[in-house]
Amino acid sequence: MSTSDRRTVIGLDVGGTAINATILDSTGRFLIDHLVETPSRVLEGPEVAVEALATAMDNVLNLTVTPREEVAAVGLDTPGPASADGVISSKGSTNFSQEAWRGYDFRGALEERIGLPVIYNNDGNAAALYAHFVHFGQRANDHSSVSAIVGTGLGGGVIESGRVVKGAAGMAGELGHVHLPMHGLLEADQPVPKCNCGFEGDAESVASLTGISRNLLPYWLTRFPGHELGQVGSLEKAAKMARGYGERGDTLALKVFEQQAKALGRLFTIAANFTDPHVYFIGGGVVETGPEFRHWFLGKVREHTLLRSEQAAVASIALVPDLDMAGARGAAVAALASLG
Ligand SMILES: [Zn+2]
Repeated sequence: MSTSDRRTVIGLDVGGTAINATILDSTGRFLIDHLVETPSRVLEGPEVAVEALATAMDNVLNLTVTPREEVAAVGLDTPGPASADGVISSKGSTNFSQEAWRGYDFRGALEERIGLPVIYNNDGNAAALYAHFVHFGQRANDHSSVSAIVGTGLGGGVIESGRVVKGAAGMAGELGHVHLPMHGLLEADQPVPKCNCGFEGDAESVASLTGISRNLLPYWLTRFPGHELGQVGSLEKAAKMARGYGERGDTLALKVFEQQAKALGRLFTIAANFTDPHVYFIGGGVVETGPEFRHWFLGKVREHTLLRSEQAAVASIALVPDLDMAGARGAAVAALASLG
């Protein structure tokens, strides 16, 4: 088989506990339609984790009866912070806490282990690329998008002409740490929210699960004395329960999510003036809800995304699809794109 016939790619999404793997053929069709997870073993250090990735790759080849010779490249994505070419931050990270991970060339090590080109993206960028690819299909390269994914933190990415904007140090698209105007978002007596990154009043300090537990709930519970969420015992636990309360129309929870929607709208307003994308994607727990709550939330985001009439005529707000598979699938899309 000549090199040009090898057009199948694999996507491997590495998290703190699991690897999610997928496989994409040359026509852009995923050969697996569900979540295929194996243990990531990242807590056991880099060498064990690289072996776990090689096993995950063999596993999807077996599942789809694909000969290894047909694979042209592998896409890898991990949580950040890491460089544009997959070197884990010298400070380590939440999921890669062991000393040996610091400054570890994860991409290079996997490439050496499996003997195939490995294309790296951080998980937010991979998910953003997948959302873009699904939304625009064959027209992906003629369009741009921005994705905000609300989880423990606020991740996402910026896609321009179908490609991830990575930046000089690999740190473009860190939407969570963009400063937002807080005037009119916070109540008059509400403290300025703080982020894990050290900033005050950035997007993640409001629009993330951590933002709820550290900043929003502590304030709103003072405004609703005796509220059930104040009796839960831990703010982290109460923050996770807040979405359910929001879906049931609870006033306190709706205040919290309205502030998150305003933050996303303000973030998108900044994006509108930076890259002026065709689509603003939202993903994560905040939209993985009942249709009524989701509709209300998206309406609030739209209301606070200030577009010029020319922009409003061509732009839209949409959801990141299949979020649990988006990282692996986006990694595979990036690997396919690298084949040219
Ligand atoms: Zn931050």
